[in-house]
Amino acid sequence: MELEQLNEQIKKCRKCRLWQGAKNAVPGEGSFNAKVMLVGQNPGAEEDKTGKPFVGRAGKFLNKVLAENGINREELFVTNIVKHVSPKNRKPLPDEVEACMPFLVTQVRIIKPKIVVLMGAVAWQAPRLESVEYVETYHPSAAMRFTKMRKKFEEDFSSLKELL
Ligand code: URA
Repeated sequence: MELEQLNEQIKKCRKCRLWQGAKNAVPGEGSFNAKVMLVGQNPGAEEDKTGKPFVGRAGKFLNKVLAENGINREELFVTNIVKHVSPKNRKPLPDEVEACMPFLVTQVRIIKPKIVVLMGAVAWQAPRLESVEYVETYHPSAAMRFTKMRKKFEEDFSSLKELL
């Protein structure tokens, strides 16, 4: 399957309740042959409005850390575990995570990145595929608020630069 086809499936997905309250699905964006894939939790209000991942406050912080490490966001593929916003921005429920997970697995299979960076506890649940290296770091929303988490987040992105 191609990424465009998969995006169409994501947009039409009705496997859980979240589509009902969403303006747009947010399949993810970036390079189709990215060496690195970043995975967050689920879209927030800004992402829902635009259909693009990490364009709100957490996204601005992420962009800053990427830029500080000389990493070009356009060379990555950025997505989330869950592709639709949730009501009042609540954490996705286990059945929503489960329903959406096959999309992430297919994205990894199509893009074949070398490294997948899982940002936050929801993302850490992603199944580990063979021949892909997984890095667990904090979610940018947590990293921008808490110093200790920010330190690890920044360190992880600095090591990522060396792996590229
Ligand atoms: N938080 C996420 O987990 N993903 C986004 O796309 C934006 C905020």
